[in-house]
Order: sequence, then structure tokens, then C-alpha cells
Amino acid sequence: MKLHEYEAKKIFKKYGIDVPKSFLIKKGDDVELKEFDEAVLKAQVLVGGRGKAGGILFTNKENFKEKVEELFNKEIKGEKVDKILVEEKLRIKKEYYLSITIDRNEKKPVIIFSPEGGVDIEEIAEKHPEKIIKYYVDIKKPFLPYIGREIAKKAGVEIKVGDIIYKVYKIFKELDATLVEINPLVVTEDNKIYAADAVIHLDDDSYFRQDFSEFEEYKNKENLPFAYVELDGDVAVIGNGAGLTLASMDTIYDFGLKPACFLDIGGGADEETTKLALKKVLENKKVKGIFINVLGGITRCDEVAKAIVEILKDNPNIKFSVRLTGTNEELGRKILEEANIPYSTSMYEAGKRLAESLRFSL
Ligand code: GDP
Ligand code: MN
Repeated sequence: MKLHEYEAKKIFKKYGIDVPKSFLIKKGDDVELKEFDEAVLKAQVLVGGRGKAGGILFTNKENFKEKVEELFNKEIKGEKVDKILVEEKLRIKKEYYLSITIDRNEKKPVIIFSPEGGVDIEEIAEKHPEKIIKYYVDIKKPFLPYIGREIAKKAGVEIKVGDIIYKVYKIFKELDATLVEINPLVVTEDNKIYAADAVIHLDDDSYFRQDFSEFEEYKNKENLPFAYVELDGDVAVIGNGAGLTLASMDTIYDFGLKPACFLDIGGGADEETTKLALKKVLENKKVKGIFINVLGGITRCDEVAKAIVEILKDNPNIKFSVRLTGTNEELGRKILEEANIPYSTSMYEAGKRLAESLRFSL
């Protein structure tokens, strides 16, 4: 999960990293600029290279409302702007780059620092690789403040930067982040250091031990117990296992149908998960037919069948076809037969039947 800049900056503040003075505005708010003379307007969108894409505007008391309106009317790389962070404009002397992420080859967290920040780090890496410092963290040892200071010394920057590196590592570790990035980390003309930008990505697999409920992104997130990708056709495709689900999509294509989604209920899905999956695909009003393809291994056919019966009771008009085979197949078939729901044990036949019933209904 990616956090918006304003939320990442709240975390920075909590950990004692200085951020510019700011306030957040939402679309439709009627606000003036009182707190400071010059401000930077920053679109709260989750895309990289926001500045280059027009998501950062400089403003003052005179043209504030105008600029705010301009930014709210923009789309930044396809993302609509519904919140803007208004920050006091800093008098920037120098811009550094700092990030901590996981190096999957080394299997270690890596701290990346460059005294040449602000611009694309990829560009610095290409043109001036000597200006990038990488430090691999030994997670078996405590991360002590001197490590940050040593990195700052090696980079030839203010020793105070070491303290920020230490704090950023603390955030990275304590929040189970996969990325914490400050670009630019700014030195102002009066020699203060601020995180002018903030990127935090949290690890979705750590929800069980983290409380992320305070974040807006988390509240908006649907925690579905299956993999779901919406597509532009009108036949929902549900399978267990990604390979089988893809094969099911191919099958319905062969019969001239187009998938409305890819939904993999995964191995071992029970009645509850299957019901949730069926409800999810029915939320899409374009869906005219559902194709379910289950090859029961650890998934039990009777559990899937029970869910199908329940959902079809409430949705009698939907065209439907199921291929069901594997563990508890007999039980599953019996449940479907009792509810008068036809089934196949062959994917091809099930696809054909769905295509015919959809064509017939046209
Ligand atoms: P990004 O494009 O999403 O990375 O957005 P940033 O927040 O990093 O802003 C992009 C660039 O705008 C920075 O690298 C700075 O050069 C500039 N910038 C941002 N805030 C300020 C500020 O307060 N003062 C000045 N002078 N420049 C700023
Ligand atoms: Mn940036």
C-alpha cells in the first residue's frame, strides 16, 4: 500500500524528521493563503515524477485561489486531484536523495544516498554512479545511530543528515515498509534540513501485526480474499488457481465470449470465499454470464456448489455455467442437481453451454 505524501509526512514528523509547514485542502474548500507568503501546491496523487507531470505549482497570496483551481482541474498521469498539500516554499540551497528499500538479490535492506538529489535517481545512477552510496543493513545487528553518521561522512554532507538516516531506518523497520524515500532531502539557505517530499510504501503482508486503520488508503482498500482483475467483457470468469483461470478465459474466448474479469479464488477456497467471489463479480452491472471452473484439490467441490446454489437463488436471471471436478465431486454434483443447476466435468463443454445459453438469450 502506497501512502500519500501528506500521510507519509505525518509519520516523518512523529519520528522527528522536519517537514515544511503545511496544510491540506480538499476539492471544493474555500481557502486563502494566510500562514505564509509563498507556497508550493502539491497534488496528492500516487504517481512518480509528479513535478514533471505538472503536479507541483508555485504560488503566492495574490494568485493562490487561481493556482489551486488550476491544479484541481488537472489530471496527473491519469489520476484526478482531490487533495492538495499546501506547503511553505523553502529557500533551497541543496537537494539530496535518500531512500531505504529491500534489495532482493542481497536479501537485505539497502540505504541509498546521493548528494545529488531532486532529479531522477536513475539518471544519476547512469551518469554519475560514484555519487550514489549504497549501504546494506545487517538485520542481525542493531541499527545504531553511528551508521547514519558514517554514511553522511562518506557522502561528504552535513553530519546532521546521519540522524535523519537513522530515523528513516526506524520508520522503515517499525512500520514494515518496503520503501521510504525522501527526494529531495533539502538543505535551506539558513542551513536547516527538511524532507521536502515523502514516499512510503507499506507491506500488505504485515497487516496482521500493524494497525494501518488510520490511513485513508487503507480505509478505501477492499481486502478481498482472492485475486480479482476487472476486464472489459461481459462474462465473469472464476477459477481456482491462476493457470486454470487463464485457461478458462481462453476457453470462453474460443466460444466468442469476452471476460468481464479474472477472478482466482485460490486453493482451498470455502463456501464463504466462493460466495464473496460471486457477489463481487455481480457488482459489475455489465456481467451477463458467469463461468466457474473448479478443479478441486484442496478446494472441495461441495463447498463451491453450496455457494453457487445460494447466490443463484438471488440472481435467477444470470446465465451461468460451471465445470466442477475433483475432491468431493459427487457431493458437489448432488447439491447442484438438487437445485436444478447443470454442470460439466469438462471445461470445453461448460464453455460451450455458456456460449449457447448467452446466444439463445440474445
Ligand atoms: P515529485 O515530482 O513528486 O518528486 O515532487 P517533489 O515534492 O519532490 O517536488 C519536485 C521538485 O519541486 C523538487 O525536487 C524541488 O526542486 C521542487 N520543490 C518542491 N518543494 C519546493 C520548495 O518548497 N521550494 C522550492 N524552491 N522548490 C521546491
Ligand atoms: Mn520528489
